[in-house]
Amino acid sequence: MTGSLFIITAASGTGKTSLVKQLLATTNDLTVSVSHTTRTPRPGEIDGHHYHFTDVDSFLADINENKFLEHAEVFGNYYGTSEQSVRTQLEAGVDVILEIDWQGALQVKKIFTDATMVFILPPSLATLRQRLSTRAQDSIEVIEQRLAGSVNEMSQYVNADFVIINDNFEVALTELKAIIVADRQTLARQQQRYHRTISNLLNSNVDV
Ligand code: 5GP
Repeated sequence: MTGSLFIITAASGTGKTSLVKQLLATTNDLTVSVSHTTRTPRPGEIDGHHYHFTDVDSFLADINENKFLEHAEVFGNYYGTSEQSVRTQLEAGVDVILEIDWQGALQVKKIFTDATMVFILPPSLATLRQRLSTRAQDSIEVIEQRLAGSVNEMSQYVNADFVIINDNFEVALTELKAIIVADRQTLARQQQRYHRTISNLLNSNVDV
């Protein structure tokens, strides 16, 4: 049985990382892909857990060796998703979340055409600014740079299959979970998971 691929995209500060973390804590057979980045770690970020932190030379070498399913430059740093690790998880029947920007999302959609893309929007720009500031992990310059880029990023929501407005965390989490649960009930997934049950149902002799 193969897993499903979910792409979750949002402007920086929309709360997608917290949503994904909580989703993973309450959902079986679901994982998030750990990206490679040339960005320097924020306080508390652990190499191999939050990101695989790497340098530009190694990143460019990995691009040349086609190791990335997708890669993009975001706010002056490179980010990329390891193709091998995603495929391994999917083949093991695990659903995989990619928490990536819109450029990467569009690249992935071309390769995995049945991937589900979820776009998370903040309720307002004021909320976004406040969330970026209270996170207090970036300098004021970086926060302003991210806010300035966020309108362009958010305008890409039209490419998504699902849109969530993250105003209330619990509501947004329920909505995100509903997308994963619904995908697991589709005909294709259920035929995979319950092929024996379905076969028994349809091939049984009703008189016995
Ligand atoms: P941050 O530096 O705040 O962790 O991430 C900045 C942006 O890069 C976010 O929009 C995040 O989703 C995106 N990003 C993180 N990992 C990847 C990746 O592997 N590929 C792409 N294309 N974007 C990524």
